[in-house]
Amino acid sequence: MRPRAVAVLAVFVLTALLSAQAPRQVSLIVHNGTVVTMDGARRVIENGAVAVDGSDIVAVDTDAAIRKQFQSSETLDAGGQVIMPGLVNTHTHAPMVLFRGLADDLALQEWLNKYIFPAEAKMVSPEFVRVGTRLAALEMIQSGTTTFVDMYYFEEEIAKETKAAGLRGVLGQTVIQFPVADAKTPADGLARAETFITQFKGDPLITPAVAPHAIYTLDGPTLKAARELSKKHAVPMLIHVAETRDEIQTARERFSTSPVAYLDSLGVLGPGVLAAHGVWVNDADIAILKSRSVGVSHNPESNMKLASGTAPVTGYLRAGVPLGLGTDGAASNNDLDMFEAMRIASFLAKLQTVDPRVVPAATALDMATMGGARSLGMERLIGSIEPKKRADLIVVSMKAARQTPMYEPMSHLVYVTRGDDVLDTIVNGKILMKDRKVLTLDADAVLKDARAMAVKVRAAVK
Ligand SMILES: [Zn+2]
Repeated sequence: MRPRAVAVLAVFVLTALLSAQAPRQVSLIVHNGTVVTMDGARRVIENGAVAVDGSDIVAVDTDAAIRKQFQSSETLDAGGQVIMPGLVNTHTHAPMVLFRGLADDLALQEWLNKYIFPAEAKMVSPEFVRVGTRLAALEMIQSGTTTFVDMYYFEEEIAKETKAAGLRGVLGQTVIQFPVADAKTPADGLARAETFITQFKGDPLITPAVAPHAIYTLDGPTLKAARELSKKHAVPMLIHVAETRDEIQTARERFSTSPVAYLDSLGVLGPGVLAAHGVWVNDADIAILKSRSVGVSHNPESNMKLASGTAPVTGYLRAGVPLGLGTDGAASNNDLDMFEAMRIASFLAKLQTVDPRVVPAATALDMATMGGARSLGMERLIGSIEPKKRADLIVVSMKAARQTPMYEPMSHLVYVTRGDDVLDTIVNGKILMKDRKVLTLDADAVLKDARAMAVKVRAAVK
């Protein structure tokens, strides 16, 4: 071989070697943390890191391995704390944060009929839901929720504010039998829902949905029409199911059956349906929900506060029903802290069954992450830190006295951590909160607007 050819070959080989080893440029690397992945093997990676490109997670590994393969102009140092998937709140009514503490210590029907429905009749407007959604978004970002499921009015306004805050939302336009602020009739509500669905379908952050309120506030034809709408557009249907004993009584008197069996007889149960609460269900109901691939949202704090009852969590888990966790609206909780929801879900299940082994920390954590994703049929997109999923993750401080010492991160995340311990919140690859500072909302303005709206709420219910 001539010297010149040798030189050319040497340059070629060198270039190939260098390009094989050159780290790939990505948009964000979150590093220097204990990564609680919540993947199939529930891997916990000490000294771990997550590489994010655009909206997606591209790799999760040890810090050293990630640094070798990737580089980025933007990095987020987790400071040795916990990196975990963002929390999925599967049931809330975001603007109801403005009714927080307005009427406590009442049963659901009295609370709804005497306070909430009248207050909503006077107060709910596009401006009201915008102010409320901004407040709820601030609280959710600050406490590590990255996806929330909503059922309310003027849902298009909620969607716009959710997008502006950078959160992921599965948002359901409410359909209800009586006249409400955004619809005079259920038909108006359905038409509104369809417009809303068409407007936001395919959005990277918003999954539009239809939300028929419940069997006791809707007739059969409207329930069927809502399900048809969800099927037509392949979007979720969100509904309150078997929340209280009153609802069981209503189903027995009007339909001679249970709420779940009644909904099944209408043909409205199937994949894409998310049933909130599911407190008063028997084994036959659970079997129906399982066979129809219906997801369930468990809301232990709301169920306790309204004394609605205790959902059979172990029954759902045994049957393999996709089970997520929710806070419900802040007016019946009274906050949107999913860490608290996890702890209460675990404790309540233990108390109910008189068995401390049920709903261990890992199970509660699963309900707030992968379980929520599965209940929404979004398990390929969110719920765990795995390549190809959306980059929805949070960094959680483990430095407080109440978190010291730490033997097992999952135990601490469920049994001692609070929403306030969240340091950073990332959704769809974008940093929404860095070191407790929310970057997508003007926190002072959000609180000021909420307090001003509360003055009007108080005047409206006097
Ligand atoms: Zn609710």
